[in-house]
Amino acid sequence: MRRPPTLKTIEIFASVQGEGLRQGEPTIFVRLAGCNLRCGFCDTKKAWRGGRERPVDKIVDEVIRLRGDHPATWVCLTGGEPLAQDVRPLIGRLHREGFRVQIETNGTFPPEPEADWHSVSPKPPDYAAHPGFKKGAREVKLVVCRTLDLDAVRTVRAAFPATVPIILQPQSNSPWSVRKAVGLLEAAGRAGLEGLRLSVQLHKVCGLR
Ligand code: SF4
Repeated sequence: MRRPPTLKTIEIFASVQGEGLRQGEPTIFVRLAGCNLRCGFCDTKKAWRGGRERPVDKIVDEVIRLRGDHPATWVCLTGGEPLAQDVRPLIGRLHREGFRVQIETNGTFPPEPEADWHSVSPKPPDYAAHPGFKKGAREVKLVVCRTLDLDAVRTVRAAFPATVPIILQPQSNSPWSVRKAVGLLEAAGRAGLEGLRLSVQLHKVCGLR
């Protein structure tokens, strides 16, 4: 008999989406364990290893329980790197319960065709993303870390259609990073790069998870 699908998870919680174009929308987060990268600025290092193997059905039960107190129609699969695991069975179950599913990914694995929204955040040093995200990305987020420069922004801008916004997200909302992000916006404008914008992590501003 086939084993029911499981996923290694760190936590499941209700909050608002603090990042990107969906900022402010009530959302239930499923944080999956494991990541193939090791970014120095990572603010979710707790997801790099460990986690609990949970049956997909139990994850969905928990999401439905949280919806009882929280008016969310979106579930965000985050990490770690959620696409390092097979999330398709979970997405199918969540769709059957009426949720839409966002995936926050570093872009190194192929996109998941069943997902409703991919937020792609290419990472240094090469800022590479799987070519499938040319079609699959709804937004691109760049953490404004110490090493991000205009050449990297230019590389990322060229890798995605002009209709996909590139969101500069200051590292941990730090003042130095906000200043750098504004400088990059100005430099990008002078260089003729379009579709860039600034956005801070709302959940951190508001003291939410
Ligand atoms: S890709 Fe994301 S989760 Fe993975 S190490 Fe980098 S910032 Fe952390």
